[in-house]
Amino acid sequence: MSNVVVITGASSGFGALTARALADAGHTVHAGMRRTATRNAPQVEAAAQYSKEHKVDLRSIELDVASQESVDTAVGRILDEHGRIDVLVHNAGHMVTGPAEAFTPEQLADLYDVNVLSTQRVNRAALPSMRRAGRGLVIWVSSSSVKGGTPPYLAPYFAAKAAMDSLAVSYAAELARWGVETSIVVPGSFTSGTNHFSHSGHPADRDVEAEYETRYAGLMDRIAEKLAALAPEGAEATLVSDEIARIVALPDGR
Ligand code: NDP
Repeated sequence: MSNVVVITGASSGFGALTARALADAGHTVHAGMRRTATRNAPQVEAAAQYSKEHKVDLRSIELDVASQESVDTAVGRILDEHGRIDVLVHNAGHMVTGPAEAFTPEQLADLYDVNVLSTQRVNRAALPSMRRAGRGLVIWVSSSSVKGGTPPYLAPYFAAKAAMDSLAVSYAAELARWGVETSIVVPGSFTSGTNHFSHSGHPADRDVEAEYETRYAGLMDRIAEKLAALAPEGAEATLVSDEIARIVALPDGR
């Protein structure tokens, strides 16, 4: 069965790869990108090219998770066309690095906005249709923050991701009652194809990137393939591997 998928932050890195993998697996994938006419225009072109060359259904859609209006418009368009969203991937996120004394409250507010509050903007728009359908899968792209042991320079980012995890875990039981499954994916760290390490411009970035040299060759591909395998089942949660993924065990109660 082909599922209707929406993924946020699909212009680069994990989001772009996951969007392609899900499209390759036969799903209709709406790859959310902010400011498609300007900032992400090359990525829009790349998605169109990929779709054409691989004969898959990968579409880019303007979706800025920082704006409820943008989210509502994008999700509204998808629902108008398909009448449903089967898989929602909360992937948009970013990181700011620096020593503890340097972070400003504004930086922390921005981290929380993009990594935590944005998921709620999308939930507000997308979850009602899943509830009506009585099925669906919500995937939250988290980080190794959930395992503890925060390395230097990343505390506010990890705190934001931990808040997102808590939200996901707390919602999971409620969503399960409607028949909607939850997965939290912990990708480990990867540098290939990602802009994740170049946002803050702080010299500490170099240290972080060195520390985070990719430990798992082909990690993104493996995760993306796993998600692609998950989706057709309509959400049978399976562990990717103990190292890189943690899936919320859903309690009974539907
Ligand atoms: P990238 O920086 O390559 O991708 C982040 C994506 O989020 C981009 O598409 C970016 O869009 C998007 N984004 C940021 N702000 C917004 C916004 N307001 N509206 C819409 N999209 C937005 O990084 P990764 O692929 O590495 O990161 C993807 C996810 O994986 C993130 O949630 C990250 O926290 C998580 N992660 C990454 C790890 C890593 O080692 N790389 C490790 C663990 C987790 P734009 O192109 O417009 O900036």
